[in-house]
Amino acid sequence: MTYPIILKPKIIVGAPMLTHKGTVILTTPATRPVKLILICTRPGYIIKTEAKGNGGGQMRKIRLGKTGLTVTKTAFGALPAQRLSMEDAVKLLRNAYESGINFFDTARAYSDSEAKLGAALSDVRHNIIIATKTQRTAAKEALEELDTSLKTLKTDYIDIYQLHNPPALPDKDEPGGLYEMLLAQKKAGKIRHIGITNHRVQNAAAAVKSGMFETLQFPLSYLSSDEDLALISLCREKDIGVIAMKAMSGGLITNPAASFAFLSQFDNVAPIFGIQRQSELEDFIRLEKDPPVLDEAMKAVIANDRKELSGNFCRGCGYCMPCPQGIHISWCARMRLLLRRSPYQRLVTPEWQAEMAKIDTCLECGQCTAKCPYELDTPRLLKENLADYRDFVAKL
Ligand code: SF4
Ligand code: SF4
Repeated sequence: MTYPIILKPKIIVGAPMLTHKGTVILTTPATRPVKLILICTRPGYIIKTEAKGNGGGQMRKIRLGKTGLTVTKTAFGALPAQRLSMEDAVKLLRNAYESGINFFDTARAYSDSEAKLGAALSDVRHNIIIATKTQRTAAKEALEELDTSLKTLKTDYIDIYQLHNPPALPDKDEPGGLYEMLLAQKKAGKIRHIGITNHRVQNAAAAVKSGMFETLQFPLSYLSSDEDLALISLCREKDIGVIAMKAMSGGLITNPAASFAFLSQFDNVAPIFGIQRQSELEDFIRLEKDPPVLDEAMKAVIANDRKELSGNFCRGCGYCMPCPQGIHISWCARMRLLLRRSPYQRLVTPEWQAEMAKIDTCLECGQCTAKCPYELDTPRLLKENLADYRDFVAKL
């Protein structure tokens, strides 16, 4: 038996569903918080509304600079989705959406991450903001990638199309060049906004000052240098939306609450958290609902981590790979920190000992150093990590 309900104002909702006597659950497809006024024509029955999807209204949202887009301050980084099965990735992405997250960042270079995003959320496409990226620097190839991204994401527009860590800015005025192509695609409606990602602070600052981009994605966390953090004010000045990547500094920050509280200080910054597990998603949703305060205790945690992780350390970004000797640099070059900041048991297995031993075969060819955005002396760092690793294992 169902009970008649009058909705004011008129809102299109899914069919009211009677779950048990006197309780009605409505599922709204709206992207914005919605206010439902329900009048039950039969007095005496309890009516409960449950706003699902992005109608939850629980998540903080920010304006992403001159894009004018309103995005949830906590965004979903879909890089780790490539490590999940299609089924698990779809479930996780869907749960993120149902929890209220509306901003999803992926890249053509993240293998099947775009495909998983498309599979999970194409039916609610207009409720979400999608940012993806191309590493191509030639106009023709970048356009081909854009079309592939659109197809893979099952959409006909990308909200923020980002140049993915280019070594230099494209020539703004080159006829038939990359930037001209991006402007043409924006005009055609395939791209809504043009952004850029970078790992080098000088390149990032130049991109912001160039006036060519509407968003900047850059590694920002409480381990960032003052020079890196100054980009936030520069972006505010130029009204550029800031997307913070590596908010957990590639796994070296092990306190999500401290990371969250630190980045919450900046109201023009949307951190994308790389989420791989349901429990991680729940952690961030919990933090959203009960935001941690940057109090003295939290500041002490941050100060301690800064002291421990100061100087030139490997962020695990992987831009230096592949190595001709097959050395897994992004793990091996920060092994000393990983052993002490995460459960070490998984890193001292015979397989990992063999991985670390590959460092002995380093040719000192310099390929990794040339590609490292942090200008690290990678071969030296690897050797130091190997010596420490052997010492660590010997003492077990
Ligand atoms: S210097 Fe060593 S670690 Fe770096 S790319 Fe060459 S062989 Fe690999
Ligand atoms: S050595 Fe540099 S490029 Fe390679 S993973 Fe570490 S930080 Fe990234």
